[in-house]
Amino acid sequence: MKIQSHLFGPLLLALLFGAGLLGCTGNIHMRIAKQSFGDFDGKTVDLFTLTNSKGATVKITNYGSIVTELHVADREGDLADVVLGFDNIEGYLGKHPYFGAIVGRVANRIAKGRFSLDDKNYTLAVNNGPNHLHGGLRGFDKVLWDAEAHCTADGPALTLTYLSADGEEGYPGNLTATVVYTLTHANELKIEITAVTDAPTPVNLANHSYWNLAGHGSGDILGHELCLNADSYTPTDEWLIPTGAFAPVEGTPFDFRTPKTIGADMGDVPGNPEMNNPGGFDTNFVLNGKTGALKLAARVVEPRSGRVMEVFTTEPGVQFYSGNFLDGSTVGKGGAVYERRNGFCLETQHFPDSINKPGWPSVVLRPGKTYRHVVVYAFSTE
Ligand code: BGC
Repeated sequence: MKIQSHLFGPLLLALLFGAGLLGCTGNIHMRIAKQSFGDFDGKTVDLFTLTNSKGATVKITNYGSIVTELHVADREGDLADVVLGFDNIEGYLGKHPYFGAIVGRVANRIAKGRFSLDDKNYTLAVNNGPNHLHGGLRGFDKVLWDAEAHCTADGPALTLTYLSADGEEGYPGNLTATVVYTLTHANELKIEITAVTDAPTPVNLANHSYWNLAGHGSGDILGHELCLNADSYTPTDEWLIPTGAFAPVEGTPFDFRTPKTIGADMGDVPGNPEMNNPGGFDTNFVLNGKTGALKLAARVVEPRSGRVMEVFTTEPGVQFYSGNFLDGSTVGKGGAVYERRNGFCLETQHFPDSINKPGWPSVVLRPGKTYRHVVVYAFSTE
């Protein structure tokens, strides 16, 4: 009975707004609906709503492979939307800091937008001070992906595919990227990213969701308790380009090996007025454990709601970003004004500027090989 009542919402929405229910016909354990999210480049953009057997819901658009909403329960069983974002495509077409998107072809920064690969030099757009950030001017967050929804034994899923042409944003090789989002019956948002290429190219794809486990629009995230499975981090210059060293977190504000609030030591991380950086965490952590094996990267608790988010990944690093550049100029879902540190990101990925750091885990993908990145955001309460 309880299961079916959770599905009345999507059914009602479908009836009211003409959203099509697809896949999973006759399946009372999950639901997938598709509706129009507006237009982009003369094409219709879709918004998919996936509901699992627990009543959790995720909305994903094929513009930028963006997670626009994620509703999970608190300790009383009340749902809240725990990601920052917009109600409509117009918000995402305007200037915004990569809310919920898949960023790439190379997430994070490449120093001076330059690298060489197999003795050839490449120049990319410089879109973050003197450096390249999140794939350039029109990265994977600003393109339309092909999307197909389907039911799986684990839960409702959406597969998105994008062909990034040779030369796009300056990167070599035709790269086909595939992202599979699954909202599992265990209340996990599982993201599996793969890519293949026809010429050597750097690849580093990441999901860039901004989290607030008390619910988006509910204020700052400084009281969230964070634990990171990282003994070291990659120190940077003042423009957030890694120096190439690994530094122990011991005795620094970056020591999250035992839980502490995000706000506890944040004031000790300086910014850079030249890049309007007010300070706070914007740091890549070197995860303990094997690259390629799924391991715990982070655990976050929001004490008031009791919501817990655990992050598991196959990647070697996680960028922990405390929403320092949010400044109240972005108005999101339901008119929520996103002020400084109203959301945080845990972007699993290879280390920033790896393409220029020969000793680091490589981001080079070659023809015949498959890039593979899994990240699981698992929700529970305590
Ligand atoms: C970066 C930040 C940047 C944010 C939004 C994060 O991944 O580390 O420096 O401001 O993305 O662009």
